[in-house]
Amino acid sequence: MRFLKFGLQLLCGIFFLTFLTAASIAADDPDPYAKKRAAMINVIEQDVRAGYVALEEGELDDEVTKALGRVPRHKFIPQHLRQAAYQNRPLPIGHGQTISQPYIVAIMTHLLHVDKNDRVLEIGTGSGYQVAVLAELVKKVYSIEIIEPLGKQAENLLQRLGYENIELAIGDGYYGWEEHAPFDAIIVTAAASHIPPPLIKQLKPGGRMLIPVGSRFMVQELLLVQKSASGAVTTRQMLPVAFVPLTGKH
Ligand code: SAM
Repeated sequence: MRFLKFGLQLLCGIFFLTFLTAASIAADDPDPYAKKRAAMINVIEQDVRAGYVALEEGELDDEVTKALGRVPRHKFIPQHLRQAAYQNRPLPIGHGQTISQPYIVAIMTHLLHVDKNDRVLEIGTGSGYQVAVLAELVKKVYSIEIIEPLGKQAENLLQRLGYENIELAIGDGYYGWEEHAPFDAIIVTAAASHIPPPLIKQLKPGGRMLIPVGSRFMVQELLLVQKSASGAVTTRQMLPVAFVPLTGKH
């Protein structure tokens, strides 16, 4: 009987110690996704080096990589999909929309060549992830979302994460955001059938715009639109992409 009692006490002690150790690990680890995020960035860097898209610099801008390392992608994703948050793929965010593939977010952010004093416009807030990545790099990001619940949800999350240099609006991004124009850079994260003229107008001379152009639900071409100091506009095809369509009445 004494042995049984001793055995039970020992077992309880082991359980208690295991519990304490697990609890202290959880308390010591403020970001349980940090390792997965680092692994995701490694995969993106490998893909960039493999040359799927020809970056003039050969690799991702260090500042872009650091920004990706700071933004908790898992928080921009529905709870039940969080385990997949750091896989290099787009994921559903509800309302038939997606959060873009991390590789595409990295490439588009890199190709915008932003500066810390820039003011950037994004069309298609979605989960708010791309806005957050940009907000790590520039002075101010404006973003427009056409689906109200998504825009509201992104706004709540970005506020909770403490971003103070982001302004969001619900509306049709085809028409840009005249009130805050011109922008140093514009990024469109939904596929358009053509480059919206209001967005070209709202781009600063010397500015850059990235926009997927092509048919709905087909592969589109990511275009880099550049406006020279004199206002001349040139476009360059960067890579094939697959985005959800830019909707609206236009
Ligand atoms: N940038 C987003 C992110 O980081 O999660 C992903 C964008 S998702 C691929 C495209 C988004 O564009 C969707 O949320 C969609 O509702 C939005 N959208 C489509 N047409 C739009 C329009 N005309 N104006 C504004 N947003 C639009």
